[in-house]
Amino acid sequence: MSIPKSFIDQVLDQTDIVDVVGRRVQLNKKGSNYWGVCPFHDDHKPSMAVNQDKQFYYCFVCQASGNSINFLRDYENLDFTDAVETLASSLGLEIPYEKTEIQDENDYSILDEAVKVFEAKLKESKKAINYLKSRNISGITAKKFQLGFSDDSWDSLYSSFEKRFEQKVMASSGLFLEKNKKNYDRFRNRVIFPIRNIKGQNIAFGGRVIDPDDEPKYLNSPETKLFNKSNELYGLYEARKETKKNGFNNSRRGLYGCYCTS
Ligand SMILES: [Zn+2]
Repeated sequence: MSIPKSFIDQVLDQTDIVDVVGRRVQLNKKGSNYWGVCPFHDDHKPSMAVNQDKQFYYCFVCQASGNSINFLRDYENLDFTDAVETLASSLGLEIPYEKTEIQDENDYSILDEAVKVFEAKLKESKKAINYLKSRNISGITAKKFQLGFSDDSWDSLYSSFEKRFEQKVMASSGLFLEKNKKNYDRFRNRVIFPIRNIKGQNIAFGGRVIDPDDEPKYLNSPETKLFNKSNELYGLYEARKETKKNGFNNSRRGLYGCYCTS
């Protein structure tokens, strides 16, 4: 069972950290912060700042820091779920727990292998490379997004995977089509864009034709166990990675880090 991220956001949006900390530690407003004696190290001076705008606390001596959930966890010695429970119940909200689906490692690894195959095929295909060049996509960009190419063949991927992966993993990968009891590669003669989730795991593919007469122009993997179209935004993982690298970390989410429940 896990807590939906949207619910955690809602709880944090409706909670005021000044209130959460202030109920446990005496706070005094000075400048833009509230100040109090830090409960996480031995002190009698107010070294801990609580910022209402950022909904964040920080101790200048022991560097304890975080949001309301972090504070409650450390102060009350609670695990993540109990801390969210405590905040939610003081807001009169009930946690809409969701079942955690256990993913088979193989579901991911077949897609990772497909990425490698497509990448290797791109290196071999002059036609695909020329197409990318004509779209001003550099080799560096192609590498970063792990762009690839699928052969102009009905089943080259299928036949190379057939002996390596279980039938059930093949069938649920979204890579293949079945017609009249025969299996075909879904992506043929296309430039391939791996679609990654926010964790950077490959979950699906998009393919674009390179011959102008081919249809449809863009083709995506169907929805699968791993790929829920409405949940994913192409390029989000890469964009976040870039943001982190450049040190932009202004968003609230950025300050709080991930909402891991484990
Ligand atoms: Zn401290």
